[in-house]
Amino acid sequence: MPKTLNQKQIEEIKSLLVQNKMTIESTLNNLSNEHVNLSEMDLNDEGDFAAASRDYITDVHIKNQQLRELNLINHALTKIEDGKYTGLCEMCDSEITIKRLRVKPHAMYCIDCRDYIEKSQVKKAV
Ligand SMILES: [Zn+2]
Repeated sequence: MPKTLNQKQIEEIKSLLVQNKMTIESTLNNLSNEHVNLSEMDLNDEGDFAAASRDYITDVHIKNQQLRELNLINHALTKIEDGKYTGLCEMCDSEITIKRLRVKPHAMYCIDCRDYIEKSQVKKAV
């Protein structure tokens, strides 16, 4: 049987999730504040505009990434609230390991399943 996390470990992961959530939310807030300015900016020539759009695209990319992570964090937090959080892989029920969860507390899958999912997503994209 795989080892599920004990209450103390779950509390630890929960506080990491809450911390990460706050960081992401403030990043997202900063990004949207900057974007309000893009349309108001005094863009004198094409070059300025290109540079501003490039920044904007990078920001959108970061924003999407952060939103995805935020979803995963909320998913994990909901499971903790519901008492359904185990720290096990959602795909194969094997241990994700506390070491990995400390680095990536919103991880849903063990490394094997994550690799498998990433590879199949790449295949789909091609
Ligand atoms: Zn797995």
